[in-house]
Amino acid sequence: MTPTHTDCLFCKIIAGEVPGTIVFQDESIVAFRDVSPQAPLHVLIVPRKHIPSLNDLVPDDDGLVGSMVRLAASLAKEHGYHERGYRTVFNTNGEAGQTVFHIHLHLLAGRRLIWPPG
Ligand code: 5GP
Ligand code: ZN
Repeated sequence: MTPTHTDCLFCKIIAGEVPGTIVFQDESIVAFRDVSPQAPLHVLIVPRKHIPSLNDLVPDDDGLVGSMVRLAASLAKEHGYHERGYRTVFNTNGEAGQTVFHIHLHLLAGRRLIWPPG
């Protein structure tokens, strides 16, 4: 079991201490709906391991991050968005708007997404 960081919201959702609408889970990753969806499909893909930001990744995490990205593609396909298109985003630190310091890959789909992002 990965230890729960007591003050981390996503560790609490992963541990079932805070409710979340979980769409996928396995031994290393949990994916749940964003509470404030910015698109018809807005899922957060979260490793069970508490990693505060991309700045904290180590080489041992490479497989985990690869699995997160492949899961995003798989969930996009499962929801019928793989051909229309979808966006995957990691926000890191203040200017990018990171608010939860446990890495998560946003999967957004179901509407036209502007570029550059705001
Ligand atoms: P960040 O801004 O760190 O990239 O993304 C954090 C995301 O977590 C935001 O999109 C926000 O809506 C979402 N979020 C914040 N609190 C909760 C919560 O309690 N439950 C869920 N499911 N999502 C949350
Ligand atoms: Zn955490």
